[in-house]
Amino acid sequence: STAFDSILRPVILRAAAADHIKNTATRLPVTARVVDRFVAGETQDDVLSAVAASLAGGLSVSVDHLGEATVDEADAAATVRAYLSVLESMSGLEASGSGRLEVSLKLTALGQSLPRHGRKMATENARTICAAAHSRGVLVTIDAEDHSTVSERLDIVRELRRDFDDLGTVLQAYLRRTEDDCREFAASGARIRLCKGAYAEPPSVAFDTHAQVDDSYLRCLRILMHGNGHPMVASHDPTMIEAAQALAHESGRSPESWEHQMLFGIRSDEQRRLADAGAQVRVYIPYGSQWYGYFVRRLAERPANLLFFLRALAER
Ligand code: FAD
Repeated sequence: STAFDSILRPVILRAAAADHIKNTATRLPVTARVVDRFVAGETQDDVLSAVAASLAGGLSVSVDHLGEATVDEADAAATVRAYLSVLESMSGLEASGSGRLEVSLKLTALGQSLPRHGRKMATENARTICAAAHSRGVLVTIDAEDHSTVSERLDIVRELRRDFDDLGTVLQAYLRRTEDDCREFAASGARIRLCKGAYAEPPSVAFDTHAQVDDSYLRCLRILMHGNGHPMVASHDPTMIEAAQALAHESGRSPESWEHQMLFGIRSDEQRRLADAGAQVRVYIPYGSQWYGYFVRRLAERPANLLFFLRALAER
């Protein structure tokens, strides 16, 4: 796993950015089969079935329309339309208004990287989605992307929270700055999803060993649990899951005041076990045709995920 982290992981994440690799990988039939394990499907109907199944199983959901890093205004507008449409269909579900429905979105899918007007466009697009979600009783969380986008994203979140104070965002424990960010957002009562972080980052901004990232996660978790906000503990790691429960107990939190979060298709048994034991558990359900970046980050996360893909290739 050390060689995986130090050699293979950055290679996978960087190679994935090359167009020729993306084109070849997405054309392989085996890729599509393996992608199904991590993605609910390409259409809105696909994601609604997955949402209904999760709700029936006692889980909350966060729906993610896949896509990122657009530098095309029309693409960003199409992303907004996709969110408005999925929000409309989610509002027909019985759970609407109960806090069990959420959408997750990426500011770079809403135009953040566009030259000159990127920030303004992403802010206004996110505002449109927040307003539609709010009127339908659905929550919104803004995902974390690579470190170069963090400061601007947090500025946008601060601005939007003046109108939508239940807007959540993500803080990544692998970034050296995150402990300070946790202090700020815990004090302001925000919904914060804490994850380890999934991008290839330089050591100047990120911790580079598992032990350092885990220690940072635990420090951040303590700050969030003792703060005024709603901590969202996004991890499949048993150590983090147990620590969250201990810290919630220590800080006198009720089960409704925080939640576990896991990804669609990963540790589904554990998701059910925690929910059956009375914890709040939200499953992050991605859908759409632009699954490549998401899929590669899952492969780079864990040797077992990469092996699963390689085994499927070999069996072809
Ligand atoms: P890891 O460090 O990957 O694994 C630790 C241990 O967990 C493993 O050793 C094993 O014991 C156990 N484990 C993990 N997977 C499995 C498995 N499949 N089966 C059995 N045991 C397993 N990242 C971002 O950068 N930005 C985001 O906005 C973002 N949003 C996220 C939202 C959610 C809901 C979740 C769950 C993750 C999100 N991530 C995001 C990804 C995150 O940053 C990590 O890359 C990812 O969750 C892997 O870290 P981990 O804490 O789950 O455990």
